[in-house]
Amino acid sequence: MPLAVLHTSDAFVLRTYDYGEGHKIVVLFTRLDGLIRAVAHGARSSKNKYGAALELLSEVAITYREREGRDLAQLVTCDVKRTRFSAAADPATLAMLAYWAELVSELFPPHQANDPVYRLLSVGCEAIERRLSTGLDEARQAQPALAAYVETWLLRLAGFLPSWRQCARCGAFFDAEQPARLASDGTPACRSCVSAGRDIGPLTRRAYAAIQRFGPDEFLGQAVPTHVVADVAEVNSRLMQAVVERPLKSYAVWQRLRAETLE
Ligand SMILES: [Zn+2]
Repeated sequence: MPLAVLHTSDAFVLRTYDYGEGHKIVVLFTRLDGLIRAVAHGARSSKNKYGAALELLSEVAITYREREGRDLAQLVTCDVKRTRFSAAADPATLAMLAYWAELVSELFPPHQANDPVYRLLSVGCEAIERRLSTGLDEARQAQPALAAYVETWLLRLAGFLPSWRQCARCGAFFDAEQPARLASDGTPACRSCVSAGRDIGPLTRRAYAAIQRFGPDEFLGQAVPTHVVADVAEVNSRLMQAVVERPLKSYAVWQRLRAETLE
């Protein structure tokens, strides 16, 4: 008999997909063991005992059984702590949350606890829910800056965010008023060290600094200009592509739904 171990943890539901007859596989980011995949037996049957527990970015308290040598765990209990009902009512917001969830599942390895990532998901969801409680327009306006905030932190926590303080080639500190450059290998450099690459202007570097200094609400309160937020998002997407090496489907869906709501 292979050894089976029962674990208990809080977790965020990142995604689910159908499995066998009436079951689902759930991808979870657990607080104590990072990414795991677990089978939720009977999750598609009429007696589905999970209810809203398996919805996107629901925060749940789970027990699950792991067997030695098997990648797939078994979900034993799954109790809802927080659902995302208000976010789920707006397709564009839900699509943004799906994008965050895909980022987490792509950027972090299985079975590696990362409490800052867990807390980031928590504060990110709470920030968008606070905006939604004020009004749908508020929430939609806050989306790009909040997504840039979450992307930047996920890149940093995964170890893929350049410092934007000094050149990776010559070590010189960047002039606060001059553009720096992102070399094609994803490292920051001064313009005299790297002849080609994408400029990272002072405002964009300041936005990166603010994201890393403040909580999401304080950062949103800074009202960083739209074009600067867009620039951060574009740099983030380059950094992301260097790591993930394929376009993220959820990002395209979010952008399309967002464009539709702005029409
Ligand atoms: Zn240099």
